[in-house]
Amino acid sequence: MKIAMLARNANLYSHKRLCEAAKERGHEIDILNTLRVTMDIVSHRPGARHNGEKLVGYDAVIPRIGASITQYGLAVLRQFEMMGVWPLNESVAIGRSRDKLRSMQIFAKHGLGLPVTAFAHDPKQTDEVLKMVGGAPVVIKLLEGTQGIGVVLGETEQSAKSVIEAFRGANVNILVQEFIKEAGSSDIRIFIVGGKVVASMMRTGAEGDFRSNLHRGGSARSIKITPEERSTAVRAAKVMGLNVAGVDILRSNHGPVIMEVNSSPGLEGIENASGIDIADKIIEFMEVHKASGKTKTKGQG
Ligand code: ADP
Repeated sequence: MKIAMLARNANLYSHKRLCEAAKERGHEIDILNTLRVTMDIVSHRPGARHNGEKLVGYDAVIPRIGASITQYGLAVLRQFEMMGVWPLNESVAIGRSRDKLRSMQIFAKHGLGLPVTAFAHDPKQTDEVLKMVGGAPVVIKLLEGTQGIGVVLGETEQSAKSVIEAFRGANVNILVQEFIKEAGSSDIRIFIVGGKVVASMMRTGAEGDFRSNLHRGGSARSIKITPEERSTAVRAAKVMGLNVAGVDILRSNHGPVIMEVNSSPGLEGIENASGIDIADKIIEFMEVHKASGKTKTKGQG
């Protein structure tokens, strides 16, 4: 295969590993800086260039689109899809997963376990939102946040209200969730490739932090998940339409609840914790599925 990887930083662990795995399996792979790709938006003959050079002959594309450039990155990916290049994850599926509220609505529609979550635009409804999730303590999240930034614990009714009002004052969208205290500052990352669990790890927050993100100083270890956790993760990736996904869940008193589904999950933490060569599994999946050329949505939004 001739593979294009859309990524801004060629030196990231995940990107280096995917390149290595592709080459080891005998493929050609080019890293294209997503922001350096330009698109020829012409009917019938869609094309794209990278640093001015026409992009031709690619069989498959691995999108590793950072949250800060989602919109442009997805436009570039759609262009590849229109050019008939098979995407590891489709633009429509990535678009769904990047919108926390939309994702939650989709999970709820499919009956998947979620923390009780509320959302409102009008600051006057702060009391109602708090009541909906059962009162403090609550977790307040910026809809556009990643890596634990913009995730705040409102321990008392008063502090929760202050945080909600401050966020609203800054005119940003938030959601409010019941605090899953029993998760004990730990979450579980389940790595899915092609509808199957390939590895899972438990991440635990740094001392005194309820957020378990590794970027916030958390630590990770390999873990055995329950059948219910497995099926929740598999279904979450499936309803998003993602072939490759990192599904984050918390162990709550009412079973596994989904935090989020990541469409460009990092490989470093999970490969180190599990000892599994996930990059190889991803490329292997591409070899099998690219051949069929099947996409779920054909890039149609
Ligand atoms: P991000 O997308 O920024 O990583 P998350 O929604 O995944 O944001 O939250 C970051 C971390 O905060 C989670 O991994 C989890 O450890 C903790 N957390 C988030 N929501 C809750 C909640 N409702 N109850 C308990 N802990 C939570």
